[in-house]
Amino acid sequence: MSASVTTNALSAPSSSNRSSERMHAAAIASARRSRGFQRPLGSDNDPLKISEYFGCNTFSFELMEKKLRSLEVSRLKEYATSGESLPRDLADLVANAVKEWAVSKGATHYCHWFQPQTGATAEKHDSFFSFDSKGGAVERFTGKELIQSEPDASSFPSGGRRSTFEARGYTVWDASSPMFLMQTEQGMTLCIPSLFISYSGEALDQKTPLLKSLSALNRRACEALHLLGHDDVKYCVATAGPEQEYFVVDDSLGALRPDLVLAGRTLLGRNPPRGQQLEDHYFGSIKPRVLSFMMECEQELYKLGVPCKTRHNEVAPNQCEIAPIFEFANVAADHNQLVMEVLKSVGKRHHLTVLFHEKPFAGINGSGKHVNWAIADSNGHNMLEPGDNPSDNIRFLYFLAATIKAIHDHGAMMRMAIASAGNDFRLGANEAPPAIMSVFLGETLDEVLNKLTDGRGGALTERQREINLDLARVPVISRDNTDRNRTSPFAFTGNKFEFRAVGSSASISPSLTFLNAAAADALEVMNAELRRRGGDRPSAEHILALIQETVKATKKIRFEGNGYSTEWHQEAESRGLPNLRTTPEALKVLNQKSTQDMLERLGILGKEEASARYNVFVERYNKIRLIELETLLEMVSTQVLPAVESQISQQSAAVEACTRTLAKTPKAVASRLESLVNLYGNLVEETGQLQALLGTTSSIHDEEKLAAKLAGDGMAMMEKVRKVSDELELLVDDSLWSLPKYRELLYIL
Ligand code: ADP
Ligand code: MG
Repeated sequence: MSASVTTNALSAPSSSNRSSERMHAAAIASARRSRGFQRPLGSDNDPLKISEYFGCNTFSFELMEKKLRSLEVSRLKEYATSGESLPRDLADLVANAVKEWAVSKGATHYCHWFQPQTGATAEKHDSFFSFDSKGGAVERFTGKELIQSEPDASSFPSGGRRSTFEARGYTVWDASSPMFLMQTEQGMTLCIPSLFISYSGEALDQKTPLLKSLSALNRRACEALHLLGHDDVKYCVATAGPEQEYFVVDDSLGALRPDLVLAGRTLLGRNPPRGQQLEDHYFGSIKPRVLSFMMECEQELYKLGVPCKTRHNEVAPNQCEIAPIFEFANVAADHNQLVMEVLKSVGKRHHLTVLFHEKPFAGINGSGKHVNWAIADSNGHNMLEPGDNPSDNIRFLYFLAATIKAIHDHGAMMRMAIASAGNDFRLGANEAPPAIMSVFLGETLDEVLNKLTDGRGGALTERQREINLDLARVPVISRDNTDRNRTSPFAFTGNKFEFRAVGSSASISPSLTFLNAAAADALEVMNAELRRRGGDRPSAEHILALIQETVKATKKIRFEGNGYSTEWHQEAESRGLPNLRTTPEALKVLNQKSTQDMLERLGILGKEEASARYNVFVERYNKIRLIELETLLEMVSTQVLPAVESQISQQSAAVEACTRTLAKTPKAVASRLESLVNLYGNLVEETGQLQALLGTTSSIHDEEKLAAKLAGDGMAMMEKVRKVSDELELLVDDSLWSLPKYRELLYIL
């Protein structure tokens, strides 16, 4: 008897202190109520309508029109669209106007706000405060400071493009995206959306290639439209509307999970008896605490000019989505970064940890970002909107064929565009589109295209011409006819494509950049062929024949069935479609000559920039996996194993007591202890293997080899350790378990 008391007394304190922290956190989380917040009020003290305060913290062109002369604003607009650098006199005028505005709203500092290749944003603040010539204190902001800033760039990833002795990097104002005031509880900062480039002019960020891809697409799309007879089109631009998924977890519980804090996902954790099988969360009523958080986020985003439209619960418990009204792709990319930042920071005010990881919980749906994409022209037409007159329909079919061709020709590149350590858990799992790229059109459109290619090519038969003319006359597809297919990575949804394979934590810039690049390339090939056949004014027959041939030649990329099924994997293989399962495999596409040739030809990324980017992405993959492995080692060694050891002592004492009382050990009792001890042995052994694996990785200096090792052995090791630990979670006294459990993370709010 006394022996058992001693064992308990020895083992209990250290682990029970930590696990009582867990109980305490769960109690705090359960007791929290939704947070109220101040709504913008009008002079009559009534809450303002959204339309009355939308964009109040942005320095829009409309606002400039009030602060500057209209001639100056139109000069600025010209520079913003041409991409040329701004003359100093104009920059000084804008700088002064924006400073006056920002300071009057309470801003003290400004920063160049940019997107290095980390997926996040970066900012370096400087004060407006300065001295005038007489030594008096003033607020000052010059055109030079507006246009360019020089952060010490040596701590940003460059992929070897910038040795530390030449650490200079420049941020350059991107006048195409409005400046805005970022409000925190401490004050306001003027944020200037910027590009980040090296001393020698190479892109070090996500935004520069995006802008270049937009200009590449603009040129080819305009060329196409002029060939199709739409001579009045001045420019074309990609539009984007990203639907953002995320999880929320109470922060007192989240803080007790080293894996959530360091890796953004749970590396351990047994699935609770209730996951998402009741299917009651999707579009379910939103919990008051979460709703209040969402509303405050939207309010902040409206002030920043982000046009939020939709909010709802997603499939998994505590999973939500926010979607904006679509905008020009460059602005949409900035706005999506702002959405993520605002969700995170407002989340803190509501004691919520916001998780953007693609797979924060094993066995529960992951999070993606459906990037809706289309192309608009200067007359406000959407190229992917099926028309109701012959000329619009030909335009629609031409751009549709080009987009299908884009994915057909560059499927592997599109897979590369969405590759990340987090997305690997999601793609190909039973809930997200597979790693194989394909295009879904919906039954009606699929049929239309099949009809179009019924014949054997060559000259149009009388019957085909009839079909085609028919197509050109009738509104072929009305929007609502399109089906939904969540299993497709790239689906047509009425008047836009939805790129569904993008990860929730990713910046949308790379996926948009490569999508624009692929579309520009496809259009370039089609335009050249069209011109070869019909000169500058090809006939409708020429155009239709080319559409027909393109649709036919790209048929293998179209798939209308279930993308999750194993049959599709086999079918895709027989069609010769690439299936790049892991990030290291997929990233290689960026290092291939054919990809780099194309990106260089389109003026989006030079070969060296592309190779540098490849290095950055591979290194990033490795760093993330190593963080995960080391966090796992620490959690198992310092939290799981000690709890199991206490459990063994506790249980041994119970077995002893049992044996003494009954004069023998009941079989079931002995075997319960035996299972526990066996699993303990396994976990100790695997922890040793995990440590050994980490040891070997430190001697691999080739990043590509390291990536292959981590994607193979590293991932397998993590799964092995997790499996045993999750089994042990069920055998260990709940009050000894210090890591908040799935049921707490997913259900308490
Ligand atoms: P769905 O239900 O088909 O997904 P929604 O209307 O909810 O359609 O749109 C989803 C997202 O697609 C929204 O962010 C929306 O703004 C965006 N979207 C709609 N039209 C376009 C377009 N032409 N280009 C880019 N994004 C678009
Ligand atoms: Mg959608």
